[in-house]
Amino acid sequence: MRWSNTLIPTIKEVPADAEIPSHQLMLRAGLIRQLMAGAYTYLPLGWKAIQKAAQIVREEMNAADAAELHMPALQPLGLFERTNRKEAFGSVLIQFDVPRGNRQIPMALGPTHEEVVTDLMSHCISSYKQLPLTVYQIQTKFRNEERPRFGVLRTSEFLMKDAYSFSSSVEQLDEIYDRMYRAYCRIFARCGLKYLPVEAESGPIGGDASHEFMIPADNGEDSIVYCETSGYAANMERADTGRTAPEIKTSANAGTLEKQATPEATSIEQVSKLLGCEPSQMIKTLIYVADEEPVAVLIRGDHEANEGKIRRALDAASVEMADDKTVQEVTGAPTGFAGPVGIKCKIIADHDIPVIENAITGANEADSHLLNVNVGRDYQLETTYDLRNAEAGDPCPKSGAPLTIVHGIEVGHVFKLGTKYTEALDAQFLDEKEKRHPIIMGCYGIGVNRIVAGLAETRHDEKGLIWPLSIAPYEVLVIPLNTKDEEVMQTAERYYSELKAAGVDVLFDDRNARAGVKFNDADLIGIPYRVVIGGKGLKNGEIETKWRTAENAEMIAVDAGIAPIL
Ligand code: ATP
Ligand code: MG
Ligand code: MG
Ligand code: MG
Repeated sequence: MRWSNTLIPTIKEVPADAEIPSHQLMLRAGLIRQLMAGAYTYLPLGWKAIQKAAQIVREEMNAADAAELHMPALQPLGLFERTNRKEAFGSVLIQFDVPRGNRQIPMALGPTHEEVVTDLMSHCISSYKQLPLTVYQIQTKFRNEERPRFGVLRTSEFLMKDAYSFSSSVEQLDEIYDRMYRAYCRIFARCGLKYLPVEAESGPIGGDASHEFMIPADNGEDSIVYCETSGYAANMERADTGRTAPEIKTSANAGTLEKQATPEATSIEQVSKLLGCEPSQMIKTLIYVADEEPVAVLIRGDHEANEGKIRRALDAASVEMADDKTVQEVTGAPTGFAGPVGIKCKIIADHDIPVIENAITGANEADSHLLNVNVGRDYQLETTYDLRNAEAGDPCPKSGAPLTIVHGIEVGHVFKLGTKYTEALDAQFLDEKEKRHPIIMGCYGIGVNRIVAGLAETRHDEKGLIWPLSIAPYEVLVIPLNTKDEEVMQTAERYYSELKAAGVDVLFDDRNARAGVKFNDADLIGIPYRVVIGGKGLKNGEIETKWRTAENAEMIAVDAGIAPIL
């Protein structure tokens, strides 16, 4: 493509209303222009980048055995009423009445296509033999976002790759979900994006039923908490809360551990003797019975103050507190809540127990215990955590290593949907025994615009954009220095046509403009490789080549032709 035949309206100044680098640079490099809040035109350079991203997405979807189709953006509102999503979407759903004869038909512009695709499958699928099946499209979505902002990162009209899987069993769904997850990793890697898959809201199936793919970026609207050591990563909005199980480490690092048979005590005096202290030094104890299995909970500190905490912990472990607070026999090494226990106790009720460090503790083995055990070093009491409010440096509940918190841009989302839509819209299949079941669904979205905007946000320098080869609007930019010079233009034209013929995506800056202007624009639009023709170099039979990311240019002989460039 010749620069003079396309539209690349670059801007020198930083546009006043663009707050973040990607928005500023995409405007300045002539990729996009705003029509109104939340609506942008993609100019030729921007559209080429979008097309390249879409093609990578398409190739990987096809490779993952998903079949491409295309569904209407214009949809009957009734479908959203049947799934209750008219309410759920609220003002995000763009809806209106369309006159047909003397009737008004309520319609919506699709914010996503679960309804349409499920309705389609309710008519096309009848037997388990047709399953599993995954379809996808790359199509415009409409969402009346409350705050369209940050250029094309959040717009009211955007290009989404949305895939939907249909299966007859949860196992089939799991397999497709994993395949899609892996395809997403390949897509974002091929697009040159740094990405982080994080746990997101879990669907009706529970477990790890949803992941978002995040581009770590200071201006991202989501917050992510992650741990490099354990691999835990989650959207903070939906991060885990819970408690860590008490952990007794019987590994060599405990050093002085010594296994011993559990001592027995049938009175509080014996307990105090075993623990090596006076009964007066003791504080409150509670003893609970869980099912058949006795469990001791020995509390360090004031029992009243801890009661709420204990009750919550017991609830979580489905342990009921015995009303009379008595117990027949307590074997230490509690399954639940480690403390300074490790004594077989008989008839100990609501008595006092001392606070002791370095006490006897459980070996997680019936009737045996460990001596000289330190809290922290050798065993860990249970702790509660709420990663929704985590702060950087807090310990990871899995590894104990410090957590990292960063902002991120959600670029993709995979979700095990279950049967929510197929039940609402009557999409069923018959199993081997001719029994009817709702089809089990998954859905998988990628924001194609966000791939491009995410790259602009994370790959630039003070001079402009830095595209990866795979998404760059053009791979090579040919710049003749003086378009009035016949030899310069002849050589440049030859490079341009030969590179094109060799299948290289090449832009030819044929403008009659000063070299400085051309170089500044070249850096701004960020084409990965540039070829400069003219000046002293050409007099010496050489042209100058330079990667956008390289410090220095390299000279290559004109005689060598385009071979060194390919
Ligand atoms: P967000 O949390 O940013 O609002 P979402 O969770 O509502 O996104 P999904 O419904 O999961 O988005 O849609 C799938 C993908 O579509 C998202 O991962 C994102 O990449 C893209 N996307 C969603 N909304 C927009 C938008 N308004 N503009 C551009 N891309 C969007
Ligand atoms: Mg949203
Ligand atoms: Mg989201
Ligand atoms: Mg999402």
